[in-house]
Amino acid sequence: MVLGKQGAGKGTQCVRLSHHYVVPHVSTGDMLRAAVKSGTPLGAKAKETMDRGELLGDDIIMEMVAQRIAEPDARARGFILDGCPRTTHQAEMLAQLLAPIDIDLAIDIDVPTRQVLRRLADRRVCMDCGANYSTSAPPKVNWTCDVCGGEVVQRQDDTEAAIERRLDLYEHQTAPLIDWYEARGQMARVNGVGTADAVLARIIRAIEERRGGRPKAARRRR
Ligand code: ADP
Repeated sequence: MVLGKQGAGKGTQCVRLSHHYVVPHVSTGDMLRAAVKSGTPLGAKAKETMDRGELLGDDIIMEMVAQRIAEPDARARGFILDGCPRTTHQAEMLAQLLAPIDIDLAIDIDVPTRQVLRRLADRRVCMDCGANYSTSAPPKVNWTCDVCGGEVVQRQDDTEAAIERRLDLYEHQTAPLIDWYEARGQMARVNGVGTADAVLARIIRAIEERRGGRPKAARRRR
């Protein structure tokens, strides 16, 4: 499970991790944006809340996550969870959902607030596949996604007011999860400043350290 402030690089790193370990990337933000785009009842309900930068209800989110991780790919290979839990209540619900094993490791990608603010102002995303770009590293051709050809735009919740609200919620609701997982011996903190490759290498090192330290019998059970 990957934690980090908005703009810390969670999305970017989770996509890379999912390729590296060949496991699905389960992102609540991406699932919700897909629901908004395809006009499902969940999407219709979520859009206004998301645009304001507020959080959706814990029950809606956990039901969506429960459904996704019950699918065969996640059951067979495990998953990388991005965007959930975002509150201690969600973390408790997740632990219950996964009992008796829970997540293997929570990773916090740590980036100072002034730096995420700069990254968010410059951030641009593909409307179709969610690939991330920035004004200083745009797609090769005219704001058309290099990966899928979709249109690359500024996210609707990357306005100054919504960013401020999301960072405030992060500090009050999500940051306490660092202590929560730390107390359970499930936390690894990674410096998120540097190139995407450098940060990825740090995350992989943290995961491998964790795996190496684990008793063999516990690993064989998966
Ligand atoms: P960011 O981390 O940049 O805020 P995400 O893409 O993870 O963006 O999520 C976008 C929005 O989706 C959030 O601002 C919130 O409204 C909603 N959302 C995503 N995950 C959750 C969650 N676990 N609990 C509540 N709301 C969520």
